[in-house]
Amino acid sequence: PPLNFPSDVSPMTDMEFGRFLLPGPTEVHPDVLRAMLRPMVGHRSTAMVDLLAAMEEPLRRVFRTQRRVIIGTCAATGFMEMAVRCGVKQRMLALVGGAFGQRFAAIAEACGHDVVRLEVPLGETIEPDMLRDALMRTEVDAVSLVHSETSTGALAPLSELAPIVHERNDVLLLVDAVTSMAGSPVETDALALDFVFTGSQKALALPPGLALGVASERMVQRAKRLPLRGAYLDLVTYEESFAERQPTNTPAVSLFYALGEQLRRIEIEGGIAARWARHEAMRQAVESWVDGPGGTLGFRFLPREGRRSWTVSCLRAPEGRNARDFVQALKREGWTIGSGYASLKPSTLRIGHMGDHNVESVRAALGRLEEAAR
Ligand SMILES: *Cc1c(COP(=O)(O)O)cnc(C)c1O
Repeated sequence: PPLNFPSDVSPMTDMEFGRFLLPGPTEVHPDVLRAMLRPMVGHRSTAMVDLLAAMEEPLRRVFRTQRRVIIGTCAATGFMEMAVRCGVKQRMLALVGGAFGQRFAAIAEACGHDVVRLEVPLGETIEPDMLRDALMRTEVDAVSLVHSETSTGALAPLSELAPIVHERNDVLLLVDAVTSMAGSPVETDALALDFVFTGSQKALALPPGLALGVASERMVQRAKRLPLRGAYLDLVTYEESFAERQPTNTPAVSLFYALGEQLRRIEIEGGIAARWARHEAMRQAVESWVDGPGGTLGFRFLPREGRRSWTVSCLRAPEGRNARDFVQALKREGWTIGSGYASLKPSTLRIGHMGDHNVESVRAALGRLEEAAR
């Protein structure tokens, strides 16, 4: 029998955009989807070289770097593993405030490294003093940090934490910027991040399937001396291939087209700073709702003010109400928001306001939430 797609999956029109507010994958704009309807090119063709060359500078602007942005065909977790395999010698300090911080630590252990966890309760972030203390107590050669912890909606104070890591000699800072990159400031060069990565399906608002990252020179030098980097996720191979504007292996060519189109759309919006400003406005829209009608109904932010992600808002449901019921009520109305993550499932919900969403969609979703709560 023919393979049928589920009946609720039909091509989207521009009019319908703005109701799918998961904290990843996020909604993909029709223009970006359409960009994928192009014929294949060989991955060793000049057409591929030209495509990678055209994306080089726009990608540098998104990542705020003069260095090379490498692109891989894998989930963001692939580049998390690359960070570990190519950046950790022996002992890593893992900053953990939720599921993705935990994942970073678990991958390092799975790769045979010693891991020291510095953990804070869900919704909180590692603060500068805590990090300085931990680095004084334990000798490590790398630190893993999740900038925007998607499971709790907490945003770590990256610009304060990075210099503390750099006070130490030869300790690399490995940063998961999966839901911060392209949605809030991530100053790769100014903060001297040694490895920073994201995935295509979060604030870049592409379909899932690509990982993107930047490595510092000293990260590349360290990688060269590490014997067990593996093959598919070897940073050194990536650096060499991308220096020739070549992918390492056969990439997801269609997703490269989507990325090219999205980079064009970012420039049209006014560049990466304009994109950040739109995300900040979406976070503020949720904050003023919680300060107003949402708060009156009993909704609260999980993270404190000043530590809230610009791309995902994690809200506690009103006392005595199950957060999952709200997610389902919105679903019945044609709106998709995220449920809470793991142990936070019954008590929290998450609104993903990243990528190509805007304040109007966020306000509309909050309006639905209000109706569901009444
Ligand atoms: C989504 C996410 C990941 C994992 O991304 P995958 O593409 O599913 O591997 C890692 N870290 C953070 C902070 C995320 O939000």
